[in-house]
Amino acid sequence: MTDTHQRQNTPRQVIILLGPPGSGKGTQALQITRHLHIPHISTGDLLRKNVKDETELGKLAKEYMNSGKLVPDALVLNMLSERISCSDCNKGYLLDGFPRTILQAEALEKLLKEPMKHRVISLNISDDAIIKRMSGRLLCKKCGHIHNKYSSPPMREGLCDRCNGELYQRPDDAVDVVKERLKVYHDQTKPLIEFYKNKGVLSSVLADQDPSILFTEISRLLSGSSGK
Ligand code: AMP
Repeated sequence: MTDTHQRQNTPRQVIILLGPPGSGKGTQALQITRHLHIPHISTGDLLRKNVKDETELGKLAKEYMNSGKLVPDALVLNMLSERISCSDCNKGYLLDGFPRTILQAEALEKLLKEPMKHRVISLNISDDAIIKRMSGRLLCKKCGHIHNKYSSPPMREGLCDRCNGELYQRPDDAVDVVKERLKVYHDQTKPLIEFYKNKGVLSSVLADQDPSILFTEISRLLSGSSGK
């Protein structure tokens, strides 16, 4: 099937990637949105941009983010509603890192101007695997490429293989903060699995596998008509 054919036949839909931090939502989101030609909306990326630009929202969000806590619902909802009202979202979009609470999920349903088809993909992975993945993560300051100390170490310590840029660890990838983020996930985000399961829109995949195999599995689920 060609990309054009796929695009014309892609129903208007909101794809939600649900999963703990470090489960690979960002990597999968990039591949899916390239394939379906829909915007990738990562609330974490939007918040980080606000922090970097030192906006009012960024100043309020920074402390929560650096300590692994959730940014208050009202702040995130404002930011998200502004983003999804942009015209590029008219034919659907993918949400990465949103919703993270039942309140956010309920607010999202109200925000959608007309009912769009929801598809929720839940990425499952153990806490131990996540701690190893995230605490080893090294990001390039220049090009954003991600290395991992354990699974894909850079050839020269501290420098990106792609562009020679300086590598750094996100403050919220430090082990203690990762543990806090996992606790927050179990307490506040995991209940969304049941929430979406009850609506019949949830499909689950094992996230601890090769990203390209995982992408094939997710694509197959998304081209099917119902949740699994
Ligand atoms: P992420 O890159 O998705 O792991 O998000 C990084 C951090 O941004 C999280 O640990 C939260 O502090 C904040 N954040 C991102 N998305 C949300 C959201 N939907 N609700 C509340 N806080 C969020």
